[in-house]
Amino acid sequence: MDLNDTPEQAQFRAQVRAWLEEHKSEAPGRERLDNDDAINARRRWQGKLAEGGLAGVTWPKEFGGQGLGPIEQVIVNQEIGAAGVPGILDVIGLGMMGPALIAHGTDEQKSRYLGPLLHGDEVWCQLFSEPAAGSDLAAVQTRAVQQDDGTWKLSGQKVWTTYAQFASFGMLLARTDADVPKHKGLTMFVVPMDAEGITVRGLRQISGEAEFNEVFFDDVTLDADAVVGSVGGGWGTALTVLMFERLTIGLGGESFGYNADRFTQAIAQDAHATKDPDVRQRLGEINTELLALRFQSYRVLSALSQGAIPGPEAGLAKVTTVKGAIDAGELIADVLGPDALAEDSEWAYMISFLPGLKSAGGTEEILRNTIGERVLGLPPEPRLDKGVPFSELRSIEKQGAAA
Ligand SMILES: Cc1cc2nc3c(=O)[nH]c(=O)nc-3n(C[C@H](O)[C@H](O)[C@H](O)COP(=O)(O)OP(=O)(O)OC[C@H]3O[C@@H](n4cnc5c(N)ncnc54)[C@H](O)[C@@H]3O)c2cc1C
Repeated sequence: MDLNDTPEQAQFRAQVRAWLEEHKSEAPGRERLDNDDAINARRRWQGKLAEGGLAGVTWPKEFGGQGLGPIEQVIVNQEIGAAGVPGILDVIGLGMMGPALIAHGTDEQKSRYLGPLLHGDEVWCQLFSEPAAGSDLAAVQTRAVQQDDGTWKLSGQKVWTTYAQFASFGMLLARTDADVPKHKGLTMFVVPMDAEGITVRGLRQISGEAEFNEVFFDDVTLDADAVVGSVGGGWGTALTVLMFERLTIGLGGESFGYNADRFTQAIAQDAHATKDPDVRQRLGEINTELLALRFQSYRVLSALSQGAIPGPEAGLAKVTTVKGAIDAGELIADVLGPDALAEDSEWAYMISFLPGLKSAGGTEEILRNTIGERVLGLPPEPRLDKGVPFSELRSIEKQGAAA
């Protein structure tokens, strides 16, 4: 494919750049989101980006988006990164929950939720992972039981829920039938985070922030129309979310500022380091990986622009972005020494936060397994739980332990 912007893309890029130039003085800083003022400033900025057509780029026009393709999304990400302003606040909502609602939601759900989500008025969170269901997501134990009046009673616990502390809604995967194999008895729900019976507790990270939470559900009542997709069809909806998650993390890399030029400039400031063959070798390897990733992203984009659904190769983008940026962080820390981790260092957050991204959106090992099986055609891992009702899985575990 031609890697340069087409005339239309170049025109779109110029338009985005001009908008950012005009509005960047109104952008908030990249402060920690640990107080209402900082969160509200980022909400308003997301609203501005949406008004300027820089949020919901790939969303259909009928839902307030621009109806453009993933290439235009990457152009926006690149220009936001280059302008040095924050991107949208609700990456999870816009990148994953909104597209999943567009794909699986009812007309009522779409008209109620999508507008406020796009403009940052209502932030969303992803209530999937649990203490015993992360990589093996289909093992979720949070239960939803339908009542005689059609409403649902929800009980259980989620963990690692990003932004649950200020989210208005969450999309939650729950078990609604334990007597069928584990992927089949799941249902997806929209959960209002202010419902009675929900407790949100923050988890502090090494980067100093508390973005994640544990969320507890004690007999929370959900309306009958809270189901997204069909009852028992939750795994299909979850797969849509996970597909968009990989894509958001993989293709969003440039707007996070993880690019070869920035790393090279940081190293170039140290005259001694630039002559050190070890530093040069490591920088060369990182930049080669990031360059290879850029070409890999073009392949994904090329497939997407021809209407194909992103496959397991999107996971490769995530593994490579995160690995390249972690390696770059280690190199910068070696060159700059402890200053790299000082409170006001531009690198401190990246160095302390990035190792966590190895797990987000599927761990590196799981993505490598997927790539091995589905891209390289290697033999699959043995799956002992295939076809076994979820309620009987614990007895299999016990037999395994006894043997
Ligand atoms: C930054 C960040 C944000 C997140 N945000 C959210 C969120 O908003 N909502 C949400 O629901 N979740 C969120 N998560 C959770 C994330 O999805 C999980 O951490 C992830 O799915 C892994 O699950 P786990 O942490 O339970 O690890 P586990 O599944 O317990 O894995 C532990 C280790 O074992 C390895 N392992 C497990 N199974 C295999 C296997 N079959 N083969 C080889 N190795 C294996 C894993 O690779 C890993 O190294 C977030 C996580 C992070 C780090």
